[in-house]
Amino acid sequence: MSNLNPPRRLLFGPGPSQVAPRVYEAMSKPIVGHLDPFFFEVYEDIRRDLRAVFGTKNSFVQVISGTGSAGMETALANFVEPGQKLAVFTAGYFADRIAEMGERHGAKVVRFNKPWGETVSEAEATEFLSKERPHVVAFVHAETSTGALQDPLAITRPAHAVGALTITDCVTSLGALPINVDASGIDVAFSCTQKGLSCPPGLSPITVSPAAVERLRARTVPCPIWYMDLKLLLEYYEGAHRYHHTAPISSFYALREGLALVVEEGVEARFCRHQKMHAEFVRRIEASGFSMFIPDDSRRIQTINTVSVPAGVNDVNTRKRLVAEYDIDIAGGFGPLAGKIFRIGVMGPLATQENVELLTNALAECVK
Ligand code: PLP
Repeated sequence: MSNLNPPRRLLFGPGPSQVAPRVYEAMSKPIVGHLDPFFFEVYEDIRRDLRAVFGTKNSFVQVISGTGSAGMETALANFVEPGQKLAVFTAGYFADRIAEMGERHGAKVVRFNKPWGETVSEAEATEFLSKERPHVVAFVHAETSTGALQDPLAITRPAHAVGALTITDCVTSLGALPINVDASGIDVAFSCTQKGLSCPPGLSPITVSPAAVERLRARTVPCPIWYMDLKLLLEYYEGAHRYHHTAPISSFYALREGLALVVEEGVEARFCRHQKMHAEFVRRIEASGFSMFIPDDSRRIQTINTVSVPAGVNDVNTRKRLVAEYDIDIAGGFGPLAGKIFRIGVMGPLATQENVELLTNALAECVK
């Protein structure tokens, strides 16, 4: 059998994004055991740098072995008890996933639904939450299925006013966009490694506010998912280092290196680079006759651009040509947005002037 030889794509989709070369190098380093002191040193480096990218002073910062959905399930399984009321703000695919998981965990789910692509105002959230008075409120910060960015405070302020905990999906925002967990009033934030952190998929960082830690301690019924029980995981990572599961060591090396790259560039400088490249992307794409799906720039995810598919253009054929002729991978829309939008990530090593030019020129060619 010949050696594995994957094609070298430029990953301009919504994730996984391009992996930084230093991250690949870190993954090829020799592994140690999951109880080795060196592994816990790596873990502490990760926790320190995660605080900087999440924008938090929370002492509770952990990493779940699993992709972003594992972080989502961890948040719901630990912070929503069966029978409790969970309010979910939905305007896209991933918010629907939160609601579905909540139902499976026995929560009484109440939804505030808006059409895909929209976001929620503080007035809307206030009215809904003061009527429903839930125990927990969940929403998506950057809704990857639509390209819309939710202002967290518009939801967290009214949620805290009714005494609810807030869970925020930061899968698409961490590492490339400011989240400011503490200032944004987020109690539980979870994310992934394969988007803003330029690592392969496989881990899910999570941080928890002191108020939410109190709720966790007060739980009388154990977390229904043994693998994601944060109390047990704390015993492994922070307490007696008692074996819980065999942590995927190479993925932790990758995350350590991905975070080191962010911190070396400077967290603010990195956000600023992504913002600039977003502006450049929009300028160039509009000059080629495309229009952005989210009309208002302040509501756009600056790292995942949703572009309307022009009338008469077939999105599947366009994406096939991009791969065949340029090795460029972008994504299409799905659900109500199938065939209507392109989803284009400009993140990490690809968020440079040269790459934005390459991408926008190629897209303009492929719709001709
Ligand atoms: N939440 C959001 C906003 C996402 O974009 C994704 C994946 O793209 C997920 C959750 C699920 O993450 P994963 O596919 O890593 O399990």
